Amino acid sequence: MSDSGPARSGHLEAKPIEAIQQALVEWYETDHREYPWRETDDPYEIVVSEIMSQQTQLDRVVDAWEDFLEEWPTAESLAAAPRSDVVAFWSAHSLGYNNRAKYLHEAATQITDDYDGEFPETPEELQELMGVGPYTANAVASFAFNNGDAVVDTNVKRVLYRAFDVPDDEAVFEATANELIAEGRSRVWNNAIMELGGVACEKTPKCDTAGCPWREWCAAYETGDFTAPDVPTQPSFEGSRRQFRGRVIRTLGTYDALTFDELGPRIRVDYGGETGREWLEGLVSDLVADELLETETQNGRTVVRLRE
Ligand code: SF4
Repeated sequence: MSDSGPARSGHLEAKPIEAIQQALVEWYETDHREYPWRETDDPYEIVVSEIMSQQTQLDRVVDAWEDFLEEWPTAESLAAAPRSDVVAFWSAHSLGYNNRAKYLHEAATQITDDYDGEFPETPEELQELMGVGPYTANAVASFAFNNGDAVVDTNVKRVLYRAFDVPDDEAVFEATANELIAEGRSRVWNNAIMELGGVACEKTPKCDTAGCPWREWCAAYETGDFTAPDVPTQPSFEGSRRQFRGRVIRTLGTYDALTFDELGPRIRVDYGGETGREWLEGLVSDLVADELLETETQNGRTVVRLRE
């Protein structure tokens, strides 16, 4: 995959965009990690979650977010609190730079004093709030008002780079992400594509085990090249499953039939342990289910061969 050269466009050309969108939204709606801020469209609660999660693992943000909203349930109550209390809360919950607590307090004051307690609804206006940059403004517009553009974070870039061969170029990522976004559905779409990067298209991708809905269109899944801007070298094991499938087929093309113990070392030098018999049986059983291989018992031993 290219990561240099001039910005290209048309990475989605000839792709069935609607099917791609629908597959991802359905996958997300069937199952996703439950975070409490995904259950709300209150902009204040979402701003708090976005600012907290800028430097802290999502799982750790949950408790802090709930405690914070119990203490200061609205922008008005936060604005009325002494800033030192907010900073003390931030430190006590290990939420990173205290400046973020100060900005959040200041933003609550702006909402209360300048906006009559009503949050603005567009990414442009939201950026007027203290501490709210373009990324956060867009996330809040999407999650609170279903009114944002595509969110482009590291996870989203990794997904686009792998799935659609988008080069490592900020402008092309943005353009492609905005071409792909389900029109008028930024809330569910941005949650879904970030979830894909968070639980399936991770640095070590889990294409098959996470049931990635984009396997049939994904360039990386096709070629076995799972590198990405934040994954410069080929990730091992799970990411290379496709390659190992290919190796099994090629190996069995030159032998009539092999036992698992004969096949394993021929397809990977580090056969054994985590990538040993059990792993190979899983790979073979997928290929049997795909009607590419068959197994049979010969002299009391299971052998694997290409399906006739
Ligand atoms: S098939 Fe794999 S590499 Fe492609 S988008 Fe899905 S998880 Fe990422």
